[in-house]
Amino acid sequence: MTSQGPDLQATRIVILGGGPGGYEAALVARRLGAEVTVVERQGLGGSAVLTDVVPSKTLIAAAEWMTSTERAAGLGIRFGVPAADARPGEAGDLVAPGISVDLAAVNQRVMALAAAQSADIRARLDREGVVTVLGEGRLDGPRRVVVRPRGGEADVVLEADAVLVSVGATPRELPGSPADGERILTWTQLYGLQALPEKLIVVGSGVTGAEFAGAYNALGVDVTLVSSRDRVLPGEDADAAELLEGVFRSRGMTVLSRSRAAGAERTADGVAVSLADGRVVEGSHVLVAVGAIPATRGIGLEEAGVTLAPSGHVVVDKVSRTTARGVYAAGDCTGVLPLASVAAMQGRIAMQHVLGDAVRPIRVPDVAANIFTSPEIATVGKSEAALQAAGSKYVTTTLPLSRNPRAKMLGMRDGFVKLFAHPEAAVVLGGVVVSPRASELIFPITLAVSHRLTVDDVAEAFTVYPSLSGSIAEVARMLHHPVD
Ligand SMILES: Cc1cc2nc3c(=O)[nH]c(=O)nc-3n(C[C@H](O)[C@H](O)[C@H](O)COP(=O)(O)OP(=O)(O)OC[C@H]3O[C@@H](n4cnc5c(N)ncnc54)[C@H](O)[C@@H]3O)c2cc1C
Repeated sequence: MTSQGPDLQATRIVILGGGPGGYEAALVARRLGAEVTVVERQGLGGSAVLTDVVPSKTLIAAAEWMTSTERAAGLGIRFGVPAADARPGEAGDLVAPGISVDLAAVNQRVMALAAAQSADIRARLDREGVVTVLGEGRLDGPRRVVVRPRGGEADVVLEADAVLVSVGATPRELPGSPADGERILTWTQLYGLQALPEKLIVVGSGVTGAEFAGAYNALGVDVTLVSSRDRVLPGEDADAAELLEGVFRSRGMTVLSRSRAAGAERTADGVAVSLADGRVVEGSHVLVAVGAIPATRGIGLEEAGVTLAPSGHVVVDKVSRTTARGVYAAGDCTGVLPLASVAAMQGRIAMQHVLGDAVRPIRVPDVAANIFTSPEIATVGKSEAALQAAGSKYVTTTLPLSRNPRAKMLGMRDGFVKLFAHPEAAVVLGGVVVSPRASELIFPITLAVSHRLTVDDVAEAFTVYPSLSGSIAEVARMLHHPVD
């Protein structure tokens, strides 16, 4: 730990919420010499680690196995033991297909991994000298946090020079249809399932709904995705969303568009989801993925001078300040962008600001995001819809993955790389990658957007041959303007 001088060492920071917004901030604040206490009611790592990012991506890692095996047949790989009299090239020459999903084992691994990650974060914070108080916290004015400890002991009062509020959000439920953890489920309750649902209804076709619908479909479940909009992933790149919806349908998923769910109720052996137009969809389980509500009510925020938006989100500026002096906020409770990476960045920025370190205000268009479906959809920079809405001038080119030599070798068909650039300055404004592992491939475009590189800068860098990233350089080359 580096010390920044005696005055900073005395700065007492209290962080309410130990998710990525909170624990990343705690580490930065310690490094900058502050005394730091994190108050957390659930476990270190927050929802990101215990119920949201880590569990969902671990489940999806298992589902990916199944989508990879789909490609295997096209590559000449057969699973199981060939029949004794099988002739080369016979598709039906297996005596045992040999793949099944043990959901109890998958979920056990998911939960073990989440718990281990939470323990790692706790150990790291302990090592760095961050104090952790386990319990429910609330503000008592802008400079004091009161904690009701988990064990039921007397309240703990923490005096602070600055407070960071990073309390996250909780799943929104369907009105009048509370989740019961058995048949009507939120995404935090999925990991208790011991066997694959016979028929899973997923309500909500945003990122969370699409990821789980894709994963369960890949694991072999009959999935119906109920979407209130024209297509899945409203708000995402339209070409990417259309491609994904096509892939979902081709894998046998039922996608009900323009279908708003009104409620869900248990039946004798499952659930019935009623739609606003009177239709009823029956299934064995329903996953409700209709967004999240910030956990900001009843914890003394407004009384401390912190302004909340009508949605309940804390209003913050680009360095994470709230309207109350000395109170900062980060992560999902601010509604800036519900991503772990953004929460962590907002938390770090808050601590740099309050502790007098160099600060770069958050730049939302630079945020790279990924949807962990199969194929994945990664985006960075300005979207085409945002460029059009702003009336900005731009040029764009799309290269299908099916033209990439490495993709052909790997048997990948569905996907593309798309770039947006300024027509005169040729600066890269944004990009979309739809591909397996798009989350890894987006980084060169993120660098280009962050550092205002031109399409020629991108095109002139070497890529490995053959590689999927070759398509990124190629699409940049296609946007090159010859000198007049
Ligand atoms: C299913 C799912 C998958 C996701 N996948 C991704 C992904 O792949 N990548 C990505 O970047 N983002 C992903 N996200 C978003 C990501 O989970 C959030 O953006 C991230 O968790 C926000 O971090 P946070 O610190 O703001 O809040 P959280 O992680 O929610 O942490 C807040 C913590 O505060 C605690 N808390 C709340 N109130 C109090 C209180 N009064 N006292 C004490 N403690 C309190 C809570 O218990 C919680 O542990 C996903 C979200 C979901 C729902």
